[in-house]
Amino acid sequence: MLRFEDNFPLKEITALRIGGPARQFVVVSNKSELTETLIYASQKNIPYLVIGGGSNLLVSDSGVNKLIIKNEMEGIIKQGKTLKVASGVILQHLVDYSIAHSLEGLQKLSGIPGSIGGAVYGNAGAYGQTISDFIFEVKALDPNGQIITFDKEECEFAYRSSLFKKKYYIVLEIVFKLNSGKTEQLRKEADEILEKRLIKYPKGIKCPGSFFKNLVAEELPLGILKRIPKEKIVFGKIPAGSLLEEVGAKGDSLGDIEIATYHANLFVNKGNGKASDFYELAKKYEDLVYEKYGIKLEPEVQLLNLPPLG
Ligand SMILES: Cc1cc2nc3c(=O)[nH]c(=O)nc-3n(C[C@H](O)[C@H](O)[C@H](O)COP(=O)(O)OP(=O)(O)OC[C@H]3O[C@@H](n4cnc5c(N)ncnc54)[C@H](O)[C@@H]3O)c2cc1C
Repeated sequence: MLRFEDNFPLKEITALRIGGPARQFVVVSNKSELTETLIYASQKNIPYLVIGGGSNLLVSDSGVNKLIIKNEMEGIIKQGKTLKVASGVILQHLVDYSIAHSLEGLQKLSGIPGSIGGAVYGNAGAYGQTISDFIFEVKALDPNGQIITFDKEECEFAYRSSLFKKKYYIVLEIVFKLNSGKTEQLRKEADEILEKRLIKYPKGIKCPGSFFKNLVAEELPLGILKRIPKEKIVFGKIPAGSLLEEVGAKGDSLGDIEIATYHANLFVNKGNGKASDFYELAKKYEDLVYEKYGIKLEPEVQLLNLPPLG
């Protein structure tokens, strides 16, 4: 039974624990609930947005004048090395499932919070692996209610980007074709990564992950690239954190928002942080990096009801 809640405080469901009220909020657990919700939104003429785990969102203090649909559609179907996965499945559950079934290809994504739908939207990744590596196809709903199946190439996956970030679709279902692996070895790899991640993201930290995207060196104009010390280029990318560090971001704070002393691209809510302070601090360092290097950093985190950065 669907429960539409008015003025729902979004800070209750974001990893950052920041965000004003959504005009309306609903959780959907299967496709028919999603369909019912979309009909409701259309009849009431309310704009809507589908979210997953809320782990990559910076929501304005004044909230969002939309129906926020939290996707909790579940289901993993295994046929040999192929997994058909509903977009509301928690990424960690899928990683654990694949390891338990001796399937290799997702283990390095261990510890990334959020849903598969959110991960596909932003092509989430870590430790040299991305969610798109073993994707075969994605089913998504277009704004006219048509279900479209996209093969991997049509998904336009790139560094923290996909077709679904450029055009509005609701990601419904993802098919992965994985490799055979050994459960013990895969578990060991995943556990090592979980241990490393705990140093950057200690338990209970309120943050949306890295705030700005790293830069792909070969995409930068030569004139700008020349200004970046060579040692800052790691595996073809310039970590945004290293540029932010150069302009003094580490440890700076505004209100209850603090930039980690150990990582200049990690903006943390110490308790009662405000989106406005987060935004202002991020803007300050975006401007400082631009002044020093001529580079416009782009946020990896999705801003809701805030002016664009980057
Ligand atoms: C502690 C921490 C560590 C993190 N580490 C990493 C990391 O190592 N690598 C990495 O890549 N990310 C990382 N992140 C960021 C985040 O976990 C990922 O971006 C994640 O994939 C977002 O999934 P979500 O379900 O929480 O998306 P949400 O935050 O709910 O939404 C993000 C965007 O996706 C859209 N979206 C969500 N579901 C759908 C759907 N079904 N259809 C269409 N659009 C949809 C939303 O509208 C929104 O624009 C980290 C975050 C935290 C808090």
